[in-house]
Amino acid sequence: MKPKSIVLGCTGQDGSYLCKSLLGQGFEVFGTSTKKKPNLERLSTLGIAERLQIINCDLENLDQTKNIINRLKPIEIYNLSAQSSVGKSFKKPVETHKSIVNSTLNILEACREINFKGNVFFAGSSEIFGSTNTPATLNSVIDLRSPYATAKYQSFLLSKLYREIYQINCVTGILFNHESPLRNNEFIIKKVINTAIKIKNKTAKELIVGNISVIRDWGYAEEYVEAMQLINRSQIKKDYIICTGKSYRLQDIIAMIFDKLGLNWKDHVKISKDLFRQSEIVSSQGNPQAINNDLGWSAKTDVKQLIDILINHELQQYERS
Ligand code: NDP
Repeated sequence: MKPKSIVLGCTGQDGSYLCKSLLGQGFEVFGTSTKKKPNLERLSTLGIAERLQIINCDLENLDQTKNIINRLKPIEIYNLSAQSSVGKSFKKPVETHKSIVNSTLNILEACREINFKGNVFFAGSSEIFGSTNTPATLNSVIDLRSPYATAKYQSFLLSKLYREIYQINCVTGILFNHESPLRNNEFIIKKVINTAIKIKNKTAKELIVGNISVIRDWGYAEEYVEAMQLINRSQIKKDYIICTGKSYRLQDIIAMIFDKLGLNWKDHVKISKDLFRQSEIVSSQGNPQAINNDLGWSAKTDVKQLIDILINHELQQYERS
């Protein structure tokens, strides 16, 4: 019999890559979606929509969550389900909070009630560190600047509590930004690439962006789901930071993207103060040393390769449309 894995939030960017990776390792994969009619676009793009069983589960409902885990009896669970946009969290704080905190608590409580002995992974976020002066470690100062960050921090604390008090085998991977061709179009790098391609093809005139001085650590999603598995399966039950350890100014990323398309960014980019966030995180840098030392994981794809992957994908999409 194949080992079973449940991916909560399987239709998202990371969920899709994770399901693909698990299927490749011979797992029987069950995915959950909060929608009755899930969006299978990303899973279809990876050619795996038919290869996993997708179940509708309202993670904000304890009984439903408990029944699914109890019925399927997986050896491991990954919770990637969340309202994952920081920007949207300012407009939808209640939805964001519920989708992250209520779901985390229900998953943990379900595991406690059915005495689940498998491994459970939660997707945390670098947003909990706010602006970092030095690359963040688990000992860094917490500085919550959005409803999303607040929810992710509560999720992190709940998982830690259930691990320590109830001996649930749960861990959090604190993820820094990671992109891929499957990333939602509203996120900045995709937005820059799509608009730059349109400018090159004369179907758009300019790119309007907010604060381009911000510094971020951008990684490749397909690699980050490998880190999630290592953390979840490790004998040491510990939380880890998942990042590349290299950070870039958004302005430099924009320049790189325009340059690769044969354009000068200064001719096409407009800054709009309306797009600045009230509580902007100026610099977000992480330290991947712990996961590298303990589990041997490090990011392989650097930001230039990542941009190449994304531009090639978006150019193909543009030519098809
Ligand atoms: P996505 O937004 O691509 O996927 C998350 C999934 O969560 C969606 O596909 C959706 O599936 C489900 N979901 C549940 N409730 C909601 C809601 N209220 N609004 C929107 N979606 C909801 O996220 P990623 O795959 O990029 O990220 C995976 C996890 O990692 C998330 O928890 C995210 O917060 C976290 N993370 C991601 C980072 C990144 O750079 N990508 C950085 C740091 C953390 P359905 O509709 O089928 O239920």
